[in-house]
Amino acid sequence: MKSKLCFGMAIFICIMSAVIITHRVEHKASQPSGAQPVEASWKKYKNIEELVLAENEQARKAGDSSQTAADKMPDYTKMFPDLYTEYVMPKAVDKEKKIAYLTFDDGPSDNTYRVLDILQEYDATATFFLIGSEIDRKHEGCLIRMANEGHTIGIHTYSHVCNEIYCSIERYLDDFNLVYDRIYDVTGKRVNIYRFPWGSNNRYSKNIKDALIEEMERRGFTCYDWTVDSKDSNGKPSAYTILRNIKKDIKRQNQPIILLHDSGANGLMVRLLPDIIKMLRQMGYEFDTLDHREPYQFPW
Ligand SMILES: [Zn+2]
Repeated sequence: MKSKLCFGMAIFICIMSAVIITHRVEHKASQPSGAQPVEASWKKYKNIEELVLAENEQARKAGDSSQTAADKMPDYTKMFPDLYTEYVMPKAVDKEKKIAYLTFDDGPSDNTYRVLDILQEYDATATFFLIGSEIDRKHEGCLIRMANEGHTIGIHTYSHVCNEIYCSIERYLDDFNLVYDRIYDVTGKRVNIYRFPWGSNNRYSKNIKDALIEEMERRGFTCYDWTVDSKDSNGKPSAYTILRNIKKDIKRQNQPIILLHDSGANGLMVRLLPDIIKMLRQMGYEFDTLDHREPYQFPW
């Protein structure tokens, strides 16, 4: 009986020891090695993120964290030291003068060559916001024609992929720099205007938008949205709906910025372009490029 009791006590002591050792090992593993445990007081930290930040900072001070300290993070203002341009604010245009600013997003494509032919035929100038990844050998000629025929080139990002370009200012600059260099290599021109995919008020970029626009301005780039949406790339528009959308938005605007698309899928817009130009001329508009107009960004 006595030996049974001793055996039972021994088993109990073994189990308790194992539990205590395991707990200590687990607790140690959850702490940054070499650092004193952070006081895990929920009164001190508002939420788990703050507690984790405090733990990381303490581990960093202890010198054994592989994390980059906040003050050592790459500073986006120091990225791409050559990514600077010059934008000269255009002279104010007489508010009564009727000028339409045709803008084409998402090119270049085969359609862009046709757009350029139509603009030449109708003696009109326009602005093209280009996607860098579309500027292949076949379409480099579009950029050269734009530069030689009085049109203006703007940047519409390299990839046009929302979760790539809008996840941080660093990623946006990384993407932007690619297309900026590409256009410079082909045309020798330093682009100074840009348009955000889905416009400046899009839901993907809202967390970084203000700081991003400020950083782009600091580098000399000016953002332009639009005041007339033809909706030529929404769903399956008809010639009728595109013309109706333009007429509806234009109302009494004297200097409308008209959004059109010259990607490979927008054949209908190209077929309709002569009618759009003729309609706007009949309404009394001349045509010019956006860099001659004061900047416009959505006010909302
Ligand atoms: Zn676009």
